[in-house]
Amino acid sequence: MKKILVLEIIGVILIGSYLFTNIYHSSQTQISHVVGVEKTIQSKQGVSEEKKAQDVANSDVKYMKTISKVKSIEVEEEIESSVLVGKIISIDAGHQSHGNSAQEPIGPGSTKTKAKVSSGTRGVATGKYEYELNLEVALKLKKALVEKGMTVYMVRETNEVDISNKERAQLANDVKADLSLRIHADGSENSSVQGFSVLVPGGDFVSQEVSSQSYAIGECMENALSKGIPNKSRGIVVRKDLSGFNWSTVPAVLLEMGFMSNAEEDQRMSTETFQNDLVEAIVEGLENYYKED
Ligand SMILES: [Zn+2]
Repeated sequence: MKKILVLEIIGVILIGSYLFTNIYHSSQTQISHVVGVEKTIQSKQGVSEEKKAQDVANSDVKYMKTISKVKSIEVEEEIESSVLVGKIISIDAGHQSHGNSAQEPIGPGSTKTKAKVSSGTRGVATGKYEYELNLEVALKLKKALVEKGMTVYMVRETNEVDISNKERAQLANDVKADLSLRIHADGSENSSVQGFSVLVPGGDFVSQEVSSQSYAIGECMENALSKGIPNKSRGIVVRKDLSGFNWSTVPAVLLEMGFMSNAEEDQRMSTETFQNDLVEAIVEGLENYYKED
């Protein structure tokens, strides 16, 4: 009886321990399983979120890389494909803060003389001096042409200079410019006179080649400006009397942007819009010339 009881007790204990073990194991398993699942989910989420973040970051980087690459390729292509690449231009912002009335020959071998350089005209509405306006535009033009891959020489970048018209021409000659571009604005006694003019050299002081090339460039520029700026064209004017042309051994064009003696044009020429449009038109005119060239 005792033996059976003991066996029964052992059996209960065994069963109990089996059950306990089983329950314990299964609960452990469950827990570990649950934990495992959670871990897995967590780590999966972690991984996926990290991966997502990484992917986003990567794709951002790729995107940015792509954009910047595309941009640089576009810029490179634009520069490489621009007909202006490698062309040399001398930009002369006409006049200076103080004129120099000392005389210089109007051309090589000439006994006829003219003042070295004048201070130019002045805006009736803005009060701005022509040499100031000319420089404003010249600096904008410089930036635009450098961006097109052109080699740009500036005759002046400040108003406080003393450079004669003959010297300005010689600076362009010295750098073997493909074009000497002179930026000016007009003045008249008659305040109703308006419009832009494109001046080109002619006469005995300049070679036939310089005359014809200057005229052709002037034509392209006049054409582009007629479409690009509100100032009306007064056409192309051949000038034989300008020292800045007569001393030139390279093609030269002088742009009279408009009349500072006309209030409307004077005010307009000082606006960013006008100056940007003008610069754009000059660039287009040059591109059109060198495309045909
Ligand atoms: Zn002028």
